[in-house]
Amino acid sequence: MEFDIIIVGGGPAGISAGIYAKRAGKNVAIIEKVVPGGQLNYISEINNYTGFTSISGVELAQRFYSHAKNNDIKFIFDEVKDVDFSNSLKVIKCRKGEYFAKAVIFALGSHSRELNIEGEEKFKGKGVSYCAVCDGNFFKDEDVAVVGSGDTAFSDASYLSGICKRVYLLTKEELKNVNYPLEILNKDNIEVIKGGISSRIEGEGEISKLIYIKDEKENALDVKGVFVAIGRQPSTQFLNGKLELTDKGFIVTHEQVKTSQAGVFACGDVCEGHLKQIVSAVGDGAVAGLEASKFVSKVKTLAGGEQD
Ligand SMILES: Cc1cc2nc3c(=O)[nH]c(=O)nc-3n(C[C@H](O)[C@H](O)[C@H](O)COP(=O)(O)OP(=O)(O)OC[C@H]3O[C@@H](n4cnc5c(N)ncnc54)[C@H](O)[C@@H]3O)c2cc1C
Repeated sequence: MEFDIIIVGGGPAGISAGIYAKRAGKNVAIIEKVVPGGQLNYISEINNYTGFTSISGVELAQRFYSHAKNNDIKFIFDEVKDVDFSNSLKVIKCRKGEYFAKAVIFALGSHSRELNIEGEEKFKGKGVSYCAVCDGNFFKDEDVAVVGSGDTAFSDASYLSGICKRVYLLTKEELKNVNYPLEILNKDNIEVIKGGISSRIEGEGEISKLIYIKDEKENALDVKGVFVAIGRQPSTQFLNGKLELTDKGFIVTHEQVKTSQAGVFACGDVCEGHLKQIVSAVGDGAVAGLEASKFVSKVKTLAGGEQD
């Protein structure tokens, strides 16, 4: 199937890019591997997106999706595994099929980083979770651990303390002297273990223990769930050698949304240096949608096709 513009990723950046490109008169498809809305689906409550004093992530994701559908944007539910930019018609290779486009926008966002410790793989989806909002309810009245030292870890611990019996929060040694948010300090059922480095997850069928090292000694927490909140990284392995990437895998952009390849644009969290927020993803997406549309119009004009 051939399109003017293919957008890879149906999060806030991709959907915004789609709306702007479609309204510029282009034939647009969004390829999404999981669910429209991207990371929005993991946010319990959003208070900083202009126009909404408070809205749940899932509701905002649904609004974004219906806005795109109202603009007749085609959604293809598939995962992009490879690309070929060697011809002017770019090839997007997915699990289930191949698609062609004059311009491509990557709005791949990011996914949770993993601990890379023994037992993590074995208990993924069976006690190891990367989303407290999605999985917290499976651990009602149980003891759980949250591993992480940033805002997400703090808000996960706070959220889980309302559902679980006890929440252990394992944070980095360097955070020994920071002021923890009151939502953490004021909760009787949150115990902060500063400088506790998780080293292994144990259990038979379900998790029974998280082993961690502190002051060079091994300790065990009797927990049923381990929530990992140690940051996010982009999934751009398939773009290695095809686009300029940073050593962490973020796409390098010039003039805001242009990549190292003509006719290929990037927006949102997948880009190096951009603010990782909904409002900026949406703004970037608008610019990418318009820049990609301009590129397609130029290609059509040069080819002697219709002028738009
Ligand atoms: C727990 C949490 C809380 C947050 N709270 C806030 C907040 O309060 N306010 C705020 O402004 N921001 C918040 N954020 C950040 C915000 O959600 C992101 O900045 C925003 O979603 C980025 O949008 P994006 O479109 O760039 O990426 P994403 O939302 O990550 O969307 C990318 C999409 O691309 C898809 N994709 C990836 N690879 C492929 C592939 N190969 N093929 C097909 N599809 C693919 C993914 O499935 C995903 O749907 C939060 C994030 C998290 C995780």
